[in-house]
Amino acid sequence: MELPSLLFVDGSPRPASDARTTALVNPATELPFAHVAAASAADVRAAVESAHRAWESGWRDLAPGKRTEILFNVARKLREHAGEIARLEMLNVGKPIAEARDEAGLGARVFEYYAGAVTKFCGQTIPVSRGGFDFTLRQSMGVVAAIVPWNFPFPIACWKTAPALAAGNCVVLKPASLSPLTALKLGELAHAAGLPPGVLQVLPGGGASIGDALVTHPLVRKVSFTGSTEIGRRIMELAARNLTRVSLELGGKSPNIVFADADWQRAADSSPMSVFANTGQDCCARSRMFVERSVYEPFVERFLAATRRLKVGDPADETTELGPMVSEGQRASVEEYIADARARGTRVALGGGRPRAKGWYLEPTVLLDVGKDDRCWREEIFGPVVAIVPFDDEATMLREANDSPYGLSGSVWTQNISRALRVSRAVQSGVLSVNCHNSVHVEAPFGGFKTSGLGRDLGMAAMEGYTELKNVYVAD
Ligand code: NAD
Repeated sequence: MELPSLLFVDGSPRPASDARTTALVNPATELPFAHVAAASAADVRAAVESAHRAWESGWRDLAPGKRTEILFNVARKLREHAGEIARLEMLNVGKPIAEARDEAGLGARVFEYYAGAVTKFCGQTIPVSRGGFDFTLRQSMGVVAAIVPWNFPFPIACWKTAPALAAGNCVVLKPASLSPLTALKLGELAHAAGLPPGVLQVLPGGGASIGDALVTHPLVRKVSFTGSTEIGRRIMELAARNLTRVSLELGGKSPNIVFADADWQRAADSSPMSVFANTGQDCCARSRMFVERSVYEPFVERFLAATRRLKVGDPADETTELGPMVSEGQRASVEEYIADARARGTRVALGGGRPRAKGWYLEPTVLLDVGKDDRCWREEIFGPVVAIVPFDDEATMLREANDSPYGLSGSVWTQNISRALRVSRAVQSGVLSVNCHNSVHVEAPFGGFKTSGLGRDLGMAAMEGYTELKNVYVAD
């Protein structure tokens, strides 16, 4: 399998202007396996200017049917190459191969959805009081900078790129420096599928070295960012200079609430993967569990048993459920949280150790008796760590569930429909799941309340976010 190793600018691969590269290390083996070009500020300028030219000289005015056709071709190419995309992701970030294949399919599905959306995304006619004819247009913005993280590199790259292109924008995509491979593959395959040169540029590189140049470039009209709350804040501050539009998908510390009237056995069996999937490196991880006291003990016992059954191992093995963490630094940061919990007397009921000598593995870890002011309860750990606490009454539990700066996701388990509706309204989060853990649907809006972000990815809401709304009035 040939690995992409160059920037993708103006429709073709090229080295960085200053010839810098980043070494990639396989998280499962700790061995370096590739060097990838790392873009400079000069590359950012070249890419943004090329994207702007591509927008002005054709993409924004392309007939909607033609844009649909090209985006469907991209989706087809992605499906044809799904196996290769999955292998790249596995090598690059240690994602279990079966999961990586699902995520490759998700990326293709996103392109299919937005290919169809091009001709279904409409303005309005408005009966203004003075008569005449008033209508709205949804117009493309120009160059969109899409900045994505390393935990779901391919699907997030697709769910920013596809709606932005469908709405008639050109895109400069910046993958995280740890995970450039599938974004580069996306650029290559999209152009092979007929995307005109310049419409999608891919610039791997360090956020600290090219982030400012990208976010503050005056031709960038919108920055769509997914990553940490800290960097999201910085991007919003920088974007304020040119009043560049931003959408931010940021961190989370989501609750998983189990009432005694629920099918709590099913909740206990399925909840481990709601926090440990992707080795806990998931913005939607349900890392704070609230379990009603009358079922707390049997629930915890069953949850621990289900966690013990999870298969941690080589990401190339089809049956592996949890691979290594993405980097040594990420594992060290999670281990610090576990050490802090131990130092405060928190009970580590399971895990906390390294299951393998090589590779950045970490056992799924279950904390009990956590203090509500402890770092493990309040901060996003971004690793395989869950804290489970009992609760006695709904109102107190909801106050505690909402006592967080974050508000991204969450689950509630109950058989009582009134309670399900009441709690769904009360939890302060952008997405919520009842009797399951599904947070992401291609067709539905995804995003956060509070410091979990602003704006929405996916669904038609994302298309709105990639357009300016114009009102046109025609006198009689
Ligand atoms: P990160 O914020 O460190 O990096 C995200 C991206 O921003 C990377 O491409 C990085 O290179 C870039 N970046 C870094 N500094 C920058 C700067 N100064 N200017 C511009 N870009 C810069 O996040 P991460 O560690 O890659 O990802 C983990 C975080 O992402 C977690 O907090 C997680 O919750 C969040 N996340 C959120 C969602 C969501 O949809 N809400 C989804 C996935 C991940």
